[in-house]
Amino acid sequence: MARKIKVAVIGVGHFGRLHAIKFSELKKEVELVGVVDINRERAVAVARELDTTPYTDYRELAGRVDAVSVVTPTVTHYRIARYFLSKGVDVLIEKPMTANPSEAEKLIKEAEKRGVVLQVGLLERFNPAVRLMREKVRTPLFIESQRLSPFSSRALDTDVIYDLMIHDIDIVLSLVDSDVEMVDAVGVPVISGKIDIASARLRFRNGCVANITASRVSRERQRRIRVFQPCTYMSVDYDTQRATIMHLKQGEERPTLEKESPRIKKGDPLMEEIKAFVDASLKGLPPRVPGTEGKRALEVAKKIKNSIGLSLERARHHLEGVLDLSQAFTDVD
Ligand code: NAD
Repeated sequence: MARKIKVAVIGVGHFGRLHAIKFSELKKEVELVGVVDINRERAVAVARELDTTPYTDYRELAGRVDAVSVVTPTVTHYRIARYFLSKGVDVLIEKPMTANPSEAEKLIKEAEKRGVVLQVGLLERFNPAVRLMREKVRTPLFIESQRLSPFSSRALDTDVIYDLMIHDIDIVLSLVDSDVEMVDAVGVPVISGKIDIASARLRFRNGCVANITASRVSRERQRRIRVFQPCTYMSVDYDTQRATIMHLKQGEERPTLEKESPRIKKGDPLMEEIKAFVDASLKGLPPRVPGTEGKRALEVAKKIKNSIGLSLERARHHLEGVLDLSQAFTDVD
């Protein structure tokens, strides 16, 4: 019989429960040996639903697992992931990877030292429309990205840059084969006290420019990216997993634009992400989204936060008494 890996999910709130469901569906490859949550009721409820064992302290899993998903609030990612990596356990860590790039670097080093898998939960990489876009986009020159959400009481331990924009930063960095040369950004705390809406302009050394907007205080949900390159424009809707490509064709009299709506088989990005992790763990292969790419996104996120900090500093004189900026950012190093 093929080898199975023993897996546990640490943190089974909203998203961790979904991780646990996906693992439990991979019956041939995975034995879900437990779910952990400091909220005992939550751990018991999810364990009962998935016929596994509840735990309230992740350290009880030492020696009992080959791999874990860390799906707890961001500030706890580093401590929990480091604990498991140091015990030789493969780790899938949710986005944002850690609370700052230096923690991410330490996790990467620990995973290298132990020879274990460290994969980051940057889910949009597994969106089939994004995969198509990464095949088609060769020389991007201008990128527009919007990720807008209505307000929710979850993930308020982070600002919108770490909470939502991190996905778009990662996708943009995966499309543009060049270094970020300049960052100019603005952001505003609206409801949570931390930055809730932000817009960043990234200029790459090769001349490409990306405008990225993320909001968690919008009326309507929207998740789109548009990429312009010579003779082609491609637009992807992350939610519907649809893409449109406009091609410039040289007609007899004048150039025309032709629309292509490629057929994309709808996918389950979380299942694909978890399958990729299980595969890397079973085969000891490098993961599809390694820690280095989680850290790279955090480094750009940090530059965006620094730039927003400067914008707010400039606006301080007319914000005084209107806005309390003391909590505007998640801690950065
Ligand atoms: P949540 O608040 O619903 O769940 C977090 C759970 O972790 C809670 O049940 C809490 O009791 C538990 N917890 C806290 N500290 C713990 C500890 N030390 N040990 C064990 N359990 C602990 O939050 P969520 O929305 O599920 O988000 C969790 C993580 O998943 C965050 O990092 C978030 O950014 C990420 N997330 C990613 C995506 C994505 O698209 N990739 C989507 C949603 C959330």
